[in-house]
Amino acid sequence: MPPRAARLPGIRGVCLTFTLTSREPSAVREPPLMKAIAVRPGKPNSVHLAQLARPKVTDIAGGRGVLVRVLKVGVDATDREINEAKYGNAPPGYDFLVLGHESFGIVEEVGPEVKHVKPGDYVTATVRRPGKSIYDQIGTCDMTSEETYYERGINLLHGYLTEYYVDDAEYIVKMPVGIKHLHVLAEPMSCAAKAVEQAFEVQRRLKVWRPKTAFVLGAGQIGLLTTLVLRLRGLEVFTCARRLPPSLPSEIATALGAHYVSLRQKNLHDLACEVGKADLIVDATGSSAMSFGAMEVLGLNGVLVWTSITGGDEKVEVPADKLNLQWVLGNKLLLGSVNANRGHFESGIRDLALSEVTYPGVIQRILTHPVKGLDGYEHMMKLLVEAKDALKVYVDVAEG
Ligand code: BGC
Ligand code: ZN
Repeated sequence: MPPRAARLPGIRGVCLTFTLTSREPSAVREPPLMKAIAVRPGKPNSVHLAQLARPKVTDIAGGRGVLVRVLKVGVDATDREINEAKYGNAPPGYDFLVLGHESFGIVEEVGPEVKHVKPGDYVTATVRRPGKSIYDQIGTCDMTSEETYYERGINLLHGYLTEYYVDDAEYIVKMPVGIKHLHVLAEPMSCAAKAVEQAFEVQRRLKVWRPKTAFVLGAGQIGLLTTLVLRLRGLEVFTCARRLPPSLPSEIATALGAHYVSLRQKNLHDLACEVGKADLIVDATGSSAMSFGAMEVLGLNGVLVWTSITGGDEKVEVPADKLNLQWVLGNKLLLGSVNANRGHFESGIRDLALSEVTYPGVIQRILTHPVKGLDGYEHMMKLLVEAKDALKVYVDVAEG
């Protein structure tokens, strides 16, 4: 499969595909423009409203296009750090990058070769697009072995914080109407699903692995969704974060049948002394100090999964000899997990659906901070920076 780095058409409505002929002057019509929330990569605090030409289903070759009307888009620390110019690149030929990688929308139109979705279906879309490595070619671009990665709304491809997008059917994932109210959580859920699936996959080295205890570090969206995935697999989960209970994260974790541990009341060492070291730890704190600290409380044969993207430059001191000794003697494993492929979106969506019959009404409580319309981009960024209690900031782009 060739790399399909889908690109939206040019800004300012400059016709890219129209041919000027003297016989058909009336055919030269500019495509309608639409709004988009964008940044100028490399320039801090550059979030602004840009304009793009509205895409067409035929922009994608082979009749495989899916045109989606955007309903809601979630934002997270990645969007905040792109606006802080910590990373992120514009697509070639542009000096701006449209933000937004957590999408939810309704199919407007499909090409003749598209069979798995139809107009009126609710959908989300994967984030990363293939490069050239073998992993990219087999549908696992989340495992690319190339340094350069292509991610919509993050690196080299425009994101979904706009009115319409078009993409290849390969990257469009259907969402059941019954979990429409969980909308933008499909993408963060796919990352949680991948983290846990990778842990189980890699632990096949043990022939038998029946983890009983998990520590989830962090009670933001990824921490809580990972708590859900693990609870649905029957593990005893200790969800650990700084905030003192009662709080929304502690209530959600508890409603999922997990134990909420405030790290202000009990540190990881004391927790491990009390309940034993964990078989599985997933770190989603955003703090590299925590992710290294977690190495001290992993049990024998255990696996520690790091999921945080830390754009800073923090330095920490670690008890290197002690860790080295414990990790060798204990056959322990450290695993990084980023992004998610189509399979993880599908299993994440299945788990979201299962959550509604197992823990009804709990997961939607993560959707804390809606922002009205694309015009609310300044408010959106302000919430991302200032609302420390926000579990999920998302933009209500359109009704549907
Ligand atoms: C996104 C992932 C992405 C990662 C690195 C996260 O915020 O949810 O899809 O791979 O950032 O860019
Ligand atoms: Zn993200």
